[in-house]
Amino acid sequence: MSFDVNIIREDFPILKQKIRKKDLIYFDNGATSQKPKMVIDRMNDYYNTENSNVHRGVHYLSQIATDAMEAARDKIKDFINAGSIKEIIFTKGTTEAINLVASSFGRAFIDKGDEIIISEMEHHANIVPWQMLCQEKDVKLKVVRINDDGSLNIEHFKSLLNKNTKLAAITHISNVMGVINPVEEIIEAAHNFDIPVLLDGAQAVPHVEVDVQKLNCDFYVFSGHKMYAPTGIGVLYGKEKWLTKMPPYQTGGEMIKDVSFEETTFNELPFKFEAGTPMVAEIIGLASAIDYMYSIGINNISKYEHELLDYATEQLLGIDGLKIIGTASPKAAVISFVLEGIHHYDAGSILDQLGIAVRTGNHCAQPLMKRMGINGTIRASLAFYNTKEEIDILVKSIDRVKSMLL
Ligand code: PLP
Repeated sequence: MSFDVNIIREDFPILKQKIRKKDLIYFDNGATSQKPKMVIDRMNDYYNTENSNVHRGVHYLSQIATDAMEAARDKIKDFINAGSIKEIIFTKGTTEAINLVASSFGRAFIDKGDEIIISEMEHHANIVPWQMLCQEKDVKLKVVRINDDGSLNIEHFKSLLNKNTKLAAITHISNVMGVINPVEEIIEAAHNFDIPVLLDGAQAVPHVEVDVQKLNCDFYVFSGHKMYAPTGIGVLYGKEKWLTKMPPYQTGGEMIKDVSFEETTFNELPFKFEAGTPMVAEIIGLASAIDYMYSIGINNISKYEHELLDYATEQLLGIDGLKIIGTASPKAAVISFVLEGIHHYDAGSILDQLGIAVRTGNHCAQPLMKRMGINGTIRASLAFYNTKEEIDILVKSIDRVKSMLL
């Protein structure tokens, strides 16, 4: 398909809105993306015609809902090229998926004296669950340094690997800087020590094609809402060999085979990790978002977003006093910057008055802010429905911010 951003924008009802009497310019896609009409309609259809609880019912609606949910699982399996639907666990998001692994893998495989590796550029969701586990089990948290340009210090990563390391949990793409980590090299180096690797893919799945078998990662986690799907749905991919040995994360209905007061046996994968009624509408919405992305083409998305990223980088660098945080390549379409003499919050508030939604602050990455010697950034995270014209308006608006505040 040829890529026409004006046609694509028609698919997103929210983009037609005026915000503060201005055309909405939405550059906060890293926090959450907007949803195409196709996804919204699919979820409405589900509630209008198919709603029922899944897996337990013999009646028609329950079977339709179960089929739709399991077809969605199959689609998600193909989306990241997992080997089997047993390896696709539904969670409410990236955060819950990481907590699941920290809790369950932690209980089964991590003990006193062991080490876990994360990096300086992690989102808090990929720091705090490990930190808690380390405190509970007397385990050491090792942190990979990053270089001044925002790239991961791969040599430092390799130097941290040893026989006590039980897991490395690293982000695929930085939510602050957009820097794409050398995940293949990370995984290969870790596997040389038989160390499993969890990749936080929250910022990757909206931008690049992900193939978990090719990557050979042990766990891959992501959220639907950052890839044009609803909130409340995320995915944990885990290699079957790990998931089989891991204990349940939560317990209750759905995840059991047999329950008596003496003993409970657990359901098979993936249901062992899905206690309670699942988020059926959201799961179906995620499958619909994948169909939508396919209709544009993941490679077309990456290519167009790269053009936008290059254009935005060039234009922003032309602004006096503006510094981009994270200049390493390769990068996905996320740009963080600071403005000399201007607090990010003040800049963000004025941009909001001008109809531009950017995110300001530490982006749930306080250790990264400390490493970069700043207390926050202004972040423009782009999606394939953004345009060069919108970037031009951002650049002009930053000039306005400067003239108002300096
Ligand atoms: N990891 C990264 C890299 C993120 O960017 C985010 C959200 O911004 C998360 C984890 C947490 O995602 P969620 O809040 O959807 O669980």
